[in-house]
Amino acid sequence: MRRVYLDNNATTPLLPEVFEAMRPYFAEHFGNASSIHHHGQETRAATERARESVAGLLGCKPSEIVFTSGGTEADNLAILGVVRAGDHVITSTVEHHAVLNSCKHLEAMGCEVTYVPVDGRGLVDPDDVRRTVRPRTRLVTIMMANNETGVLQPVEEIGKIAGETDVYFHTDAVQAAGKVAIDVNRLGCDLLSISGHKLHGPQGVGALYVRKGTVLEPIFYGGSHERSRRAGTENVPGIVGLGKAAEVAVEAIERGDLAQMSEMRDRIEQKILAEVEATGVNGSGAPRVPNTTNIHFDYIEGEALVIALDLKGLAVSTGAACSSGAIEPSHVLTAMGLPSEIARASLRFSLGKQNNAEDVQFASDLVPQTVARLRDLSPVYNRTAISS
Ligand code: PLP
Repeated sequence: MRRVYLDNNATTPLLPEVFEAMRPYFAEHFGNASSIHHHGQETRAATERARESVAGLLGCKPSEIVFTSGGTEADNLAILGVVRAGDHVITSTVEHHAVLNSCKHLEAMGCEVTYVPVDGRGLVDPDDVRRTVRPRTRLVTIMMANNETGVLQPVEEIGKIAGETDVYFHTDAVQAAGKVAIDVNRLGCDLLSISGHKLHGPQGVGALYVRKGTVLEPIFYGGSHERSRRAGTENVPGIVGLGKAAEVAVEAIERGDLAQMSEMRDRIEQKILAEVEATGVNGSGAPRVPNTTNIHFDYIEGEALVIALDLKGLAVSTGAACSSGAIEPSHVLTAMGLPSEIARASLRFSLGKQNNAEDVQFASDLVPQTVARLRDLSPVYNRTAISS
């Protein structure tokens, strides 16, 4: 059976060249990067080369990169590393749970957190951030690109406000890295998170950019790895893979590959909107990363559509999280003002480097047929009500 994977915001396949770069570090080059002998020097050198590559992706100095176990740890380190009990933090209602639950933890520690809203397109108003800053505000943490909708926040403007008010600015760029050009100095951020497996690197490795001079307390206690910012023996194969993935991402951006990706995404979107009634794009009208579209298919249960498409070979996802046996509507889509039944009827399609025109054709043909079949079976779908 033909299988097409359009769930690259969940995770991306490892590129063959990334796997090849990692391969020697699983067996042949096994040294602990902290050892002073030959074996340690080999892996230390590889780790430092990877640090340069990641710094190249973000436009910073290699010494400002801290390797972590992924995006979740990078977000936790950024937030818990700079905020102290009694501080005030500003975030948004559409953040990933790595940020939202770190903020919940801060609230339990006696911090105050303001969750700024988004508009119907999923955008934060920078003036809301400006209005909410107070003397005790220590950190603004607003994501660069949303994982469900792909919507890009006005992070440069938010960075400017944070700079003017002398507040640290962290941005979760896990879904932006490799999909848009990033320059930490243009963004004006002090902290920025990325994750290997979202840019065709390995799972279980990520990085936090920490601007020189940022006062960051570690969240792990142990050795003095990563300049005492993140204790624990380095995941050398993972770090080497992240470095290679960063190099490939920079080359792709320079070649202009992103324009092709947004063309493919637009083709899927346009074909579905043209052929299926009672649909719409969540986040339309906002700037978005080139690989993501989130579409609502009214009168359909998103989970049912995901399963029906999977049975035919297409992997996509809903933004919904299953908690306590009940399918909760996506917090991102409901924060954008979507009624819960529309949020539950929404699907995310996300492209990766491996996708091609045939994949786009396959999805564009399969989705309208499958939606029609499910709607035929649906007691809530009333054609006369829709067409009248
Ligand atoms: N932040 C965003 C926006 C994400 O999409 C994800 C993963 O889905 C994370 C953070 C967490 O990254 P990781 O899976 O590397 O822990």
